[in-house]
Amino acid sequence: SAKEAGRNAYRFFTNKMNVDVMDRIMVRNSLLRALERREFVLHYQPQLDIKSGHIVGVEALIRWENPDIGIVPPDRFIPVAESSGLIVEIGRRVLQEACRQLKAWQEEFGLADFVMAVNISALQFTRGDLYEAVSSAIRESGIDASNLELELTESILLKEADQALEVMSRLRKLGVKMSIDDFGTGYSSMAYLKRLSVDKLKIDRSFVKDIDVDSEDAAIAHAVISLGHILGLTIIAEGVENEAQLAFLHAHGCDQYQGYYYSRPLPAAECGRLLSKN
Ligand code: C2E
Ligand code: MG
Ligand code: MG
Ligand code: MG
Repeated sequence: SAKEAGRNAYRFFTNKMNVDVMDRIMVRNSLLRALERREFVLHYQPQLDIKSGHIVGVEALIRWENPDIGIVPPDRFIPVAESSGLIVEIGRRVLQEACRQLKAWQEEFGLADFVMAVNISALQFTRGDLYEAVSSAIRESGIDASNLELELTESILLKEADQALEVMSRLRKLGVKMSIDDFGTGYSSMAYLKRLSVDKLKIDRSFVKDIDVDSEDAAIAHAVISLGHILGLTIIAEGVENEAQLAFLHAHGCDQYQGYYYSRPLPAAECGRLLSKN
């Protein structure tokens, strides 16, 4: 029955299990239903300037609020959304909602130089019209393009590098900012970094975790900060969970951070309360 199929699909999102072709169809259908029912919501994690301690932006992180199973984290459904192509439509909604929320916060709190960072999947470049999705989200919300930052992973550059570079350069002309997410875990070369003309590198949280005790992680983080600064880039560390990690990053000149130490990703209303006190 349809109800049973739904239950099986939901099991997929809550357990780590493999899916066969039938399961994938059910899973795709439940994501489609979630889109129709507007069950995808964004939480926002503050990004802070290390020197001043002020919030300089937020990263939008998707969650699926499923009425039967509760909140499903992105790692449980983004891969299926990608393999089924639905990520294009989901990503379009994410861009629209993030820009709309930014506009609302700007009207309430000012936030002229504030950044709204949005994660972009490689599939949005190759299967969807990313330029159109971004430019219409900016136009419809009325935000300034320079307040929007796209977080890309190095995998975008592995596949379809030329196509991605072309779209990125058009988006750059629009004034949109770019960062490389999970930096250090992928394959991007120095040459790519130069061609990409990104604004920011995000040090992956796997290097931040033991940054204050593991000399290799410390060396990697230090090297990313130095390299980034030589190239004129802003460096942000992700996954900062404690004072020791923050102190290390501060001492080594890292510009910004985000992580549980300051705040977990929050629903819009709670994040707004932090912004009102900023
Ligand atoms: P990401 O972009 O690297 O996001 C950072 C992840 O680290 C988030 O997980 C965040 O909640 C988590 N995090 C933040 N601070 C800490 C910390 O101090 N400690 C630890 N252990 N974790 C921390 P989340 O929200 O589960 O997102 C996971 C991934 O899902 C994201 O990784 C991103 O790749 C993807 N994702 C999230 N939202 C979207 C979206 O709208 N579109 C696409 N395409 N991918 C998304
Ligand atoms: Mg990210
Ligand atoms: Mg990341
Ligand atoms: Mg990640």
